Amino acid sequence: ERKQLHRLRREPTRTVDGVDIRLYANAESREDVAESHALGAAGIGLYRTEFLFLQREGLPDEEEQFHAYRDAVLGMTGRMVTIRTLDLGADKSDRSGLTLPREPNPAMGCRGVRLSLANEDVFVSQLRAILRASGYGPLRILVPMVTERAEILAVAGLITRVARDLRSEGHEIAEHIPLGAMIEVPAAAIALPTFIGAVDFISVGTNDLTQYLLAADRNNEALGELYHPLHPAMMRLLRNVIRTAKARRKPVAVCGEMAGDPAFTALLLALGLEELSLHPGTLLEVRRAIRALDLGHLRAQAPALLRARDRAGIEKWLAAAQP
Ligand code: PEP
Ligand code: MG
Repeated sequence: ERKQLHRLRREPTRTVDGVDIRLYANAESREDVAESHALGAAGIGLYRTEFLFLQREGLPDEEEQFHAYRDAVLGMTGRMVTIRTLDLGADKSDRSGLTLPREPNPAMGCRGVRLSLANEDVFVSQLRAILRASGYGPLRILVPMVTERAEILAVAGLITRVARDLRSEGHEIAEHIPLGAMIEVPAAAIALPTFIGAVDFISVGTNDLTQYLLAADRNNEALGELYHPLHPAMMRLLRNVIRTAKARRKPVAVCGEMAGDPAFTALLLALGLEELSLHPGTLLEVRRAIRALDLGHLRAQAPALLRARDRAGIEKWLAAAQP
């Protein structure tokens, strides 16, 4: 069983009806990058940069970050590396060198791109490090916690300025660095048509999207089963987000924990996804699940999935979708 799974490292992630699905990996360490490469991931779909800020006292400088990002790009030998800009906030940790504001409701406070835009020096040094790494292989930038168009435009403006500075200092950086938004705030998901033109790709963070959509803290055990992605509102929202992206021909992935659970693979494919980003620990299991699924059949079953009225109905659909 384990051995058979191991063999899938070199097999394509292809459905029964011959469609290739791209499996990217989520990485938050150097080891994750090496493992993702060995498992045949299509690239890194989510490189969480928080670890650089949390495993030390004080802030990592541009040079330290540049080395980490460059190593990730070199480690993936030409496959795409998606670097997410800092997604810290008082809800994630207070151990970084950033003085995080004390907030009564940190999950809804100054985190992600909000924190970055409020600390421009720190953000610029991260962008400089990322852009310098782009000279070593394909790389793109993913912005967390986007709520509105203005945030994307602000980040794009900073990137343009940083790129100009770096070139004038003699650094070789990529001609074009794709810019993407995490879709994890319901407002961004609903209003996606208003800013999809300002991004090159999107990645849906179902961990936070579930939390904010259902008003259910992702870390609050007292809520029991309420924090769960199999809610009819999530199905509808995911369907609309994926449709909007595809209509504009922008790549769309899901990078939350949902993507790494083979029990949900049929559902994500039915909703129209052809790209997933997941922890390398379950990449082969998800690849095995995909290789047993018929995409045409699943897509034909999508209307039934969207008609489900509750979690039990969605689970029933999933049980019927298993090959
Ligand atoms: C998410 O919110 O789904 C996500 C991938 O980001 P994180 O878990 O780091 O918040
Ligand atoms: Mg998130």
